[in-house]
Amino acid sequence: MTEFAEKSKALFEEALKLFPGGVNSPVRATVKPYPFYVERAEGAELITIDGDRLIDYVLGYGPLILGHKHPEVLKAVIEQLEKGWLYGTPSKSEVELAKKITKYYHADMVRFVNSGTEATVTAIRLARGFTNRSYIVKFEGCYHGSNDSLLVKAGSAATHYGVPSSRGIPDELTRLTYVLPYNDVEAFEKFMRSHGESIAAVIVEPIIANSGLILPDVEFLKALREYTKSYGALLIFDEVVTGFRVALGGVQELYNIKADLTTLGKIVGGGFPIGVVVGPKEIMENLTPLGKVFNAGTFNAHPVAMAAGLATIGVLERDRSVYETANSAAKTLAETLLTQAEKCGIDATVNTIASMVQIFFTKGPVKNYNDAKASNTKLYVKLHTELLKRKVFIPPSQFETWFTSSAHTSSIVEKTINAIEEAIPKLL
Ligand code: PMP
Repeated sequence: MTEFAEKSKALFEEALKLFPGGVNSPVRATVKPYPFYVERAEGAELITIDGDRLIDYVLGYGPLILGHKHPEVLKAVIEQLEKGWLYGTPSKSEVELAKKITKYYHADMVRFVNSGTEATVTAIRLARGFTNRSYIVKFEGCYHGSNDSLLVKAGSAATHYGVPSSRGIPDELTRLTYVLPYNDVEAFEKFMRSHGESIAAVIVEPIIANSGLILPDVEFLKALREYTKSYGALLIFDEVVTGFRVALGGVQELYNIKADLTTLGKIVGGGFPIGVVVGPKEIMENLTPLGKVFNAGTFNAHPVAMAAGLATIGVLERDRSVYETANSAAKTLAETLLTQAEKCGIDATVNTIASMVQIFFTKGPVKNYNDAKASNTKLYVKLHTELLKRKVFIPPSQFETWFTSSAHTSSIVEKTINAIEEAIPKLL
């Protein structure tokens, strides 16, 4: 970004009077001294109102696996707009998208909502209604949206701003949520042996993308599967980030472990607002209008999101080079970050899988929330600033993940490598 992005600065000054903190989602305010405003976006780049072209590794926080303004998604959206954009009745595209989702997530039924948050709210309510139990288990550093029941020791912006457990959520409610350490099989098994029979659901990010990137031990995921099954609790995999990103069938395909309910969002709406709950008939049938667990929404299964999601999944199915390009970009970035940090004598750990990467300034390994929090977050912010000066936009917070897309071709990656090689020595 240019040192003096006058137009962005002026807009942010106005925005500070209009929005708390000047923004509508907290992470956007972490770009200092003020966020840049985007005029348009294309491929791997954001073009700001001040005329800067930035290589984008945020990608709307995950949805844009095909990069910005992919021609097929654009075409599908325009075609839908030509036909009108909100009917208040079912439409064909929701049936088509649900068929794709049930196929890849080995489930029978779907409920479309409008955000990842709504998906986890609905999944938790459904699990409670189905099991007739009240308690839920989540894991430290996992973020499941701004869901009252799950905003306890949460990652992402909640951790960044020091409110991993938000004010305004009554203790009476948070008492129903147990929080356990991630990747700790022993702690989980011990907990389930004493409390398992009162638990409605165990919800987890099967790969954490909200405390930086943290990979699971397969044994941990297996223990979640085994113990929830034997105590009659539902296992919910929150694949809002990982669904259709690490594989078409998400982490469940990657590790061959099946959850009872899956929440999706982001990629499945092709960059438009969406959330999805997916599961077997006997659980899903408990949702209204068939069952007694309430969910409804004016914008549920919004035709434009359906069209963009179908177009995106269509490209992912047809063109394997999407995953190859995105994954190879992430791998190269990971190697570059690590090599450059080593060269400069800076302690660093890089976690990566598929098209996701994050660097932590610590010796590591980083396997849970406490490891992530123990890293030098000031150095991370400095890296963000140095890269932004060199026109590369990475997540402004340590507790997010870098994403790559099919638009991150070798020439884009090459430019990024140069920027990283210049930026890391500046951290000393
Ligand atoms: N679950 C996970 C794993 C997420 O990463 C997020 C958002 N980043 C959510 C749920 C909430 O999704 P939304 O922001 O669409 O409400």
